[in-house]
Amino acid sequence: MPRYQRNKYGAFSVSHGQSNSPTYVSWCAMKSRCLRPCMRSYPRYGGRGITICDRWMVFANFLADMGERPKGMTLDRIDNDGNYEPGNCRWADNKTQHKNKTNNRKDLAGQTFGRLTAIAYSHTHNRHAWWIFSCSCGKTKVIDGYSVVSGNTRSCGCLHVERLKNSPPRRRAQLA
Ligand SMILES: [Zn+2]
Repeated sequence: MPRYQRNKYGAFSVSHGQSNSPTYVSWCAMKSRCLRPCMRSYPRYGGRGITICDRWMVFANFLADMGERPKGMTLDRIDNDGNYEPGNCRWADNKTQHKNKTNNRKDLAGQTFGRLTAIAYSHTHNRHAWWIFSCSCGKTKVIDGYSVVSGNTRSCGCLHVERLKNSPPRRRAQLA
């Protein structure tokens, strides 16, 4: 069993005997960028809402999901406006990271996610690109592109309404 203890920043950390491994150094740096306002890089990370998922606040989970950091690689977010979480992170070399940054806004036009097809870029809010989506039910809605790409939003809202209609009566009563 891992032993949990408070580190010098007051956060819980786990004894794992890896405190000098490259992976551990990357994990600490990620936390500093997102959680410590005194860090020079904080405004570009925690300061603009980039967060770390709860699971990755425990080093052992981060290591299990990401594996050991390969030599010459650094921790990279695939969507530069997305969070530190499984599915949005990879070990990448500087070349890949640079390419990712210059190509910051993904062109979603014409792409379909669930019931939603991106028609055109609308605006940027909190560093997220919002797109005009056409839903297969016929409605058009402006939605946070990141939410759609990550799978959190799959329809204009019609999917949720349908699920409620099709759920067993007891569950429907609970939700009403
Ligand atoms: Zn719809």
